[in-house]
Amino acid sequence: MKIISVVVPVYNEEDNIEHFYKSIVEVFDKLDYEFELDFVDDGSKDRSREILRELEKNDSRVQSIFLAKNSGHQLALTCGLDHADGDAVIMMDGDMQHPPELIPTLIAKWEEGYEVVHTIRKNTEGVSAFKKLTSAYYYKILNTLSTVHIQEGGADFRLMDQKVVKAFRRYREHARFIRGMIGSMGFKQTYIEFVAPKRFAGVSKFSPRKMLHLAVDGVMAFSTLPLRMGLYIGVCCGFLSFLLFLHVLVSKYVFNDAVAGWATITACILFFGGVQLTVLGIMGEYISRIYEEVKNRPLYLIGRGRPKDEPENN
Ligand code: UDP
Ligand code: MG
Repeated sequence: MKIISVVVPVYNEEDNIEHFYKSIVEVFDKLDYEFELDFVDDGSKDRSREILRELEKNDSRVQSIFLAKNSGHQLALTCGLDHADGDAVIMMDGDMQHPPELIPTLIAKWEEGYEVVHTIRKNTEGVSAFKKLTSAYYYKILNTLSTVHIQEGGADFRLMDQKVVKAFRRYREHARFIRGMIGSMGFKQTYIEFVAPKRFAGVSKFSPRKMLHLAVDGVMAFSTLPLRMGLYIGVCCGFLSFLLFLHVLVSKYVFNDAVAGWATITACILFFGGVQLTVLGIMGEYISRIYEEVKNRPLYLIGRGRPKDEPENN
């Protein structure tokens, strides 16, 4: 029988894990596939780890990795993908917002010959109008800037063939926007749509700060256009300041009223100062990313590995 690995990053999900586990078992009971549930605990501070250990004891199909600290959803996912060894790998959230009932459809698409099956959120129940609006605009901006098309509403809920997972493991950048990375990899990809229900329990673990970081990572990882924009702005300003210089010359030598330029000068200084700081800021963003990558630190640290990989530690 083919084995499907289900990779699930969890961070303080004590009230969701058991329910999630049960619904995965229920789904696979009706399918002719074995499954392995690879939880990656992203440094939870609640009872999540106890619950995961308990599940492991009762069902050897459950295997958990405990990260040494909270490394964020994208890195926890990466860790899970690095270890998942099923014939196909499904990544999904553990809060029931990625409905397990969709798994048979994902697998059916895979059996049709697709190597990556993405899911697109048509709607999310119980999400604020603000989050919906910012998300819609974000994808518009991202797609204008970036070289690869990133589907709006894309969720980190997808199936990948083991061969795509192996290929993905060779991507080791730190600032990662997994959606875009997989989208840009090629292979035979398709997508299905779904409506994300409300979380089963608990609150979103994505703070506005984490959302913003992910959003900036997405733009920076797939585009150098912001840098080039700096160049364009610079050229435009150079041209403008040349016109201004002409104006200065004309004022001084034709009209002889050079003193009356205070307002113009102040405005110019403020304007060019603003432009320079913006461009410097953009460059700083890229440089800090270069720095992060050059340090070449491990993407994540494992506090405790899967029982099947390290039986002596468990
Ligand atoms: N998550 C994680 N590390 C984090 C934040 C979130 O592993 O630092 C997990 C979380 O437990 C959940 C999934 O990532 O299984 C998606 O997070 P969440 O549901 O909070 O995001 P939202 O659905 O609100 O975008
Ligand atoms: Mg969620």
